[in-house]
Amino acid sequence: MISYLSTALVMIGVAIHIAALAPTRRLIAMLPAGSLRNKWFAMIGLILIFIAGYLGYIVVLWGQQTEWRDIPTPGIFLLGAVFVWLTANLSLQTAVDLRRISLLEMENITDPLTQVYNRRYLDRKLEEEVARSKRYSLDLSILMLDIDHFKRVNDTYGHQAGDVTLSTFGSLIKTALREMDVVARYGGEEFLIICVNTAIDGATVVAERLRHLVESHQIEIPDDSGGSQTIQISISIGAAGLSTTLDSKNKLVQAADQALYRAKQAGRNCVIVAAPETMEAAQLQ
Ligand code: GH3
Ligand code: MG
Ligand code: MG
Repeated sequence: MISYLSTALVMIGVAIHIAALAPTRRLIAMLPAGSLRNKWFAMIGLILIFIAGYLGYIVVLWGQQTEWRDIPTPGIFLLGAVFVWLTANLSLQTAVDLRRISLLEMENITDPLTQVYNRRYLDRKLEEEVARSKRYSLDLSILMLDIDHFKRVNDTYGHQAGDVTLSTFGSLIKTALREMDVVARYGGEEFLIICVNTAIDGATVVAERLRHLVESHQIEIPDDSGGSQTIQISISIGAAGLSTTLDSKNKLVQAADQALYRAKQAGRNCVIVAAPETMEAAQLQ
């Protein structure tokens, strides 16, 4: 009777170990290839070894005289299996929850149409970058971009085509920037780029590159007949760099905005740099 009980406890332990394999495999499927994933593969190996060990214990136990004082051993085997099962399930639940939280956080700071950062994130990030750059005496520049005559795109091709243009534009400028640069939608068809660790000269080169990239890119927009047509747009850019006068987030944005205004006045499709000392702006092209 006691030996049956011992065998039953160990067999339940085996079943619980087998049940722990499913969440472990789901967890592995969620992980990218790498050392963490390999460690969970090792965990599967350990579970299989445990199962083999438990079965071996049953074989050894078979036909032997057992007493009540022998019961703690299979009991601990059972608890060990419960521990493995709980660990696998809690790890899976934690990974699922963390993924959901990070997705929500990402949605919270992403502009849904263009998939670049939204204004909420921009305000926070720019404040942080200005403080960091001042504390460590690092360079920092911003670019304010505005699509030229964008109203015409909406008026000529429709609002949906305008949306496609904006979303293509978002992806296009992201491809041309460094990973650490921050692209955000500032408002309707205005975007702001934070060029981290970049002096105004470098940012101006980036701005020119973006301007040229946009003017030479064919944007494909679907038409009513199920086909598509291509349109070309251009952008005007106002650039400003952190300096002794432009020493706060608001001053930087205001200077870039004024430079952008001048770029529009200068005929559009050009880059204007806000001069750091005088707040006067200089036209590049
Ligand atoms: P400018 O060269 O002076 O910048 O001219 P513009 O036509 O680009 O500027 P304006 O401010 O007159 O018009 C901006 C247009 O952008 C008007 C607005 O309907 C459009 N717009 C803003 N947000 C969106 C959007 O999310 N989707 C679409 N399709 N259009 C938008
Ligand atoms: Mg515009
Ligand atoms: Mg505008």
